[in-house]
Amino acid sequence: MISDEQIIYLDNNATTQLDPAVLEEMLPFLTKYYGNPSSGYGFGAQVRRAINLARERVAALLGCEPGEIVFTSCGTESNNAAVNSALQLDPARQHIVTTAVEHSATWRHCDALAKRGCSVTTLGVDSEGNLDLEELERAITAQTAIVSVMWANNETGVLFPVEKIAEIARRKRVLFHTDAIQTAGKIPIRLANSTINSLSLSAHKLHGPKGVGALYVNKRSAFKASLIGGSQEDNRRAGTENVASIVALGKAAECAAAALEDEATRVRALRDRFETILLEKVPDAFVNGDRKARLPNTTNLSFAGVESGAALMILDRHQLCCSAGSACRTGSLESSHVLRAMKVSDERARGSMRFSFSRFNTERDVDKALEIVPKAIAKLRGLSVASAVRESAAV
Ligand SMILES: *Cc1c(COP(=O)(O)O)cnc(C)c1O
Repeated sequence: MISDEQIIYLDNNATTQLDPAVLEEMLPFLTKYYGNPSSGYGFGAQVRRAINLARERVAALLGCEPGEIVFTSCGTESNNAAVNSALQLDPARQHIVTTAVEHSATWRHCDALAKRGCSVTTLGVDSEGNLDLEELERAITAQTAIVSVMWANNETGVLFPVEKIAEIARRKRVLFHTDAIQTAGKIPIRLANSTINSLSLSAHKLHGPKGVGALYVNKRSAFKASLIGGSQEDNRRAGTENVASIVALGKAAECAAAALEDEATRVRALRDRFETILLEKVPDAFVNGDRKARLPNTTNLSFAGVESGAALMILDRHQLCCSAGSACRTGSLESSHVLRAMKVSDERARGSMRFSFSRFNTERDVDKALEIVPKAIAKLRGLSVASAVRESAAV
């Protein structure tokens, strides 16, 4: 097994380290406090109170009311549930507006819905990864059930102006959902006076455990459950609660909220130093996506003449974890749908790497990465030159 002490973990958009404070908080709910939160006796009620404390903590991170939080099994479920609910509300409205750069938890779901007869409008982006809001407005029709647009892109970190999009959706009287799975805990979110109808988050992207998420549903917005059964989560999501994980998500949200201001600044400085020095050290390297409207922790870089899969293997040998394109596609040759939507050339997309930082990263991680990455790129370029020379000699 590879120990976490040996690795340089720069893949925090794929998943994050569990905060030790989160583990401590959740453990007793896997051992001592095993009561069912729906039970009528005190042994169950104390578990119910723990879930409600978690709900308050998640609500505090999002600046909303605890009653607006529905716990789910993951970010994917939250995204699916928001769109499914909208489609169930009115049979005459079976049109979805979304973008070409969403996570598969949105776009594959929309693809599946399209096969079942829904219509889907997929908005493109420009070369910086930005949307055209006039085009978005024009895409909304009387048949539109929901607009679902992510807040921060998991591959590039590019931020969409979701408050403006929510305003457009409100004016057009359609629901607006945002996938904020990369946003929560990284930049401030204040839902209290927002016109966002629903928002997804996932614990494992903010130093919580895998397999638990939440969906914010505005208290004035209608909602239809996807999972039907018991009356848990105020009839919005049936199934006995994953208590320990929900408690953990609550603690993760509390820790993220407490650290947010300082850490966003510190993590941004780590990312910026890494990016700036790398661009100085490595010729023919480019940043993909808008560098201003961007998460503080993410950089997506393309190295000309390099296959990112090969780079990943060299970096892996030095215990450096990062992503070539998106984690979900590792092992497949297909280039990133996000970079394709941005009309990044195939060559540049094939050489793209994502480095994503978190509050557990240090200056030392950046120092080490700045030693390892330029050497790896130079080595790969040398190899490709050498093999090119061999090829031409063979002709
Ligand atoms: C990770 C991620 C998801 C999926 O969340 P899970 O909890 O892994 O299901 C969805 N959208 C974005 C933007 C993500 O980064």
